[in-house]
Amino acid sequence: MPGISERKISDYIVKIEKTTCISSKNCITVAPELFELDENRICEFVEEKNDVSKEKIIEACSVCPVSALYVYNIDEKQLVP
Ligand code: SF4
Repeated sequence: MPGISERKISDYIVKIEKTTCISSKNCITVAPELFELDENRICEFVEEKNDVSKEKIIEACSVCPVSALYVYNIDEKQLVP
């Protein structure tokens, strides 16, 4: 889907709604091993697929001020926002 980046991490599906991101970097402050800003200063997954705990994924996605980060569990239940 255009404008959406998606990655499976630790049994979670994480989605970045790139058109909503306002580059606040809150998520990066919590989990720099998961998120970075791309060349347009919009949130993107870091290239390397690091192990990130479920707790940290939830925390990093929950601090987004514009709810641009989504977390789903393996049953497609939405956990964040
Ligand atoms: S916290 Fe939200 S708005 Fe800020 S950089 Fe991350 S995705 Fe973008």
